[in-house]
Amino acid sequence: MGIYALTGGATGIGAAIRARLLAEGHRVIVVDIKDAEIIADLGTPGGRLAALAALRALAPEGLDGFVPCAGVASHIPDRALIPSVNYFGSVELLEGLRDLLVAAGGAVVLISSNSAPGPSDDNYLEAMLANDEPRARELAAGIAGQWAYAGSKRALTRWMRRHTAEWAREGVRLNAIAPGYTQTPMTAAVENDPTYGAAIRKFMASIPIGRPGQPGDMADAVAFLLSPQAGFVCGSVLFVDGGHDAMQRPDLF
Ligand code: NAD
Repeated sequence: MGIYALTGGATGIGAAIRARLLAEGHRVIVVDIKDAEIIADLGTPGGRLAALAALRALAPEGLDGFVPCAGVASHIPDRALIPSVNYFGSVELLEGLRDLLVAAGGAVVLISSNSAPGPSDDNYLEAMLANDEPRARELAAGIAGQWAYAGSKRALTRWMRRHTAEWAREGVRLNAIAPGYTQTPMTAAVENDPTYGAAIRKFMASIPIGRPGQPGDMADAVAFLLSPQAGFVCGSVLFVDGGHDAMQRPDLF
């Protein structure tokens, strides 16, 4: 049985991934801002360093897998948090755990989004990929929340693709899932909003497979990508979205 690190495991998709890995008999170390073995704010550099130190202490010999799942949505009031949690909270932990993943021949699944190919801002994307957190935060605060969110997930996916070959040569597989609309505490807030609720329900009804995603759908995909059955799957972005991306961008492949 393996030892896995997971961020954002307190609720929603992360909680389903935790339950799935536990059911397979693995040990799962969760980092979250609440209800976790390691409590840390991944939106701050200090919180990330503390999380890394605690993870390293709990798994000194290596990690069989890592899923950086913690994230904040487009509608949060402080949009500067979007790149800090979604991008830097994932990438800095990945880089800080690299040697432990190499030691155990681990696998990584990043959590992108099917909104990642949508509109964003090129300077904002470049700031994240250039590791310039202050600039990314400043730019995120000045653009629409949806752009800030989509950009954080696009940059994260690009980071994954840019590092796939190098990490694979060290024995670590990087992959990502791109969830579509999934019912979690994150989406419940907008679904129940008197202003946006009707539009969200219309959006849900447009999902080709006929229902919104559930956290367990994402956990199943993550479990596959982490498993030996996915041993030759490397650098992939698996859309888990009931066909929404294919419907919206049929020829963009
Ligand atoms: P959620 O709000 O239920 O879970 C997010 C988790 O991240 C929570 O446990 C929360 O406490 C944690 N978190 C938030 N800020 C943090 C911080 N600063 N430090 C540490 N932990 C923090 O949301 P969810 O819908 O389960 O989302 C999980 C992931 O899936 C996110 O990365 C999200 O962007 C992504 N995603 C969700 C959807 C969807 O429709 N729900 C779609 C695409 C992608």
